[in-house]
Amino acid sequence: MSRLLTILLGSAALAAAAPITTWAADAPISKADRALHEKILTLDTHLDTPEHFARKGWSMADRHDVKADGTQVDLPRMDAGGLDGGFFVIYTEQGALTAEGYRGARDAALERAAEIREMVAAHSDKFELAYTADDAERINKAGKKFVFQSMENSWPLGEDLTLMQTFYATGVRMAGPAHFKANQLADSSTDKPLWHGFSPLGLRWLAEANRLGILIDVSHSSDDVVDQAVALSKVPIIASHSGAKAIYDHPRNLDDGRLKKIADAGGVICINSVYLKNTNASPERLAALKALGPAPDSETASEADIIAYLKKKAEVDAKLPPIRASFEDFMASLTHTLKVVGPEHVGIGADWDGGGGVVGFEDVADLPKVTARLKAAGYTDADVAAIWGGNVLRVVRQVQDYAAKQAAAK
Ligand SMILES: [Zn+2]
Repeated sequence: MSRLLTILLGSAALAAAAPITTWAADAPISKADRALHEKILTLDTHLDTPEHFARKGWSMADRHDVKADGTQVDLPRMDAGGLDGGFFVIYTEQGALTAEGYRGARDAALERAAEIREMVAAHSDKFELAYTADDAERINKAGKKFVFQSMENSWPLGEDLTLMQTFYATGVRMAGPAHFKANQLADSSTDKPLWHGFSPLGLRWLAEANRLGILIDVSHSSDDVVDQAVALSKVPIIASHSGAKAIYDHPRNLDDGRLKKIADAGGVICINSVYLKNTNASPERLAALKALGPAPDSETASEADIIAYLKKKAEVDAKLPPIRASFEDFMASLTHTLKVVGPEHVGIGADWDGGGGVVGFEDVADLPKVTARLKAAGYTDADVAAIWGGNVLRVVRQVQDYAAKQAAAK
């Protein structure tokens, strides 16, 4: 199943789920909190929205409804939620570790990078590509949205690390080695270990990322990879969309020791809105979903076929509702991580359009709720600004300064 469909299925679930209200999700945002949120630079480190850029009839400039089409990020909702920019993801679902597999993945990733650039070019009065932290600040001051690029899964590089320069040239400034499965570079948090950390090629990948000034992202990587990345990277690293294992014990989440380790090395953990509680479906629900038959492929199916499928799916959801995490669960992961590592080492990467979103925190229009809750919890304006963007830009600067110094020394 394509990831878009995974997202769509999530949204259909949302449409049919009984409304659950919580104090936090419904609490009005005060004028002061809203003003603070608008004033500061806000970014999300993991926006899977490029999945939709080539979708027929879909435009980043239009306002969409998560309940209708499953998407969570567009320009009107970025404006509504005060989101100034972020890292737009070149995601590749893991496939075969063969020459043929690598070629296909390489081409698909290059195409996705081109789609990101095309989206920005098509809306150049509203969006601009960012390559540095200074770019992000300048673009934000000019009233436009800044678009960094990142790679989720570096499988498309195959065994040719010179491709990292190619992707760097397209604008990639953050990359994670692996996704749900171990690959030629590193182990995954959700797969049997192939290497017990990085592979020999993966170690060269890490050094090359440092050399080029690409921020190393350990979300999805195994604990061994996290440990090795912290130990071997010459600069701080990031977890672009991860959570606290103390809140929900899942392999995708980080234990307190590793949260501290990343922070002690100067890095940032950006909090995800996925893996917040056990949301596994009952056997009855799984059987009902299976009975729907295969889901239409989002790249080839018509919008009408996708919507028709979602309607059938919504009927299943009405009878056998899915289990969903809440905004409170998201805040629990965020505030726990803040307590463990402090506000200088936490960011936000909610996995919008990649499976993110919880009850009361459904799309990027809901972001000011986080600012309000952080203020209510006693965090200062400076803390809130650091969490929403300052910390990540600090690390982007460190990584790029190191690369520039190394290049100048040669
Ligand atoms: Zn992910």
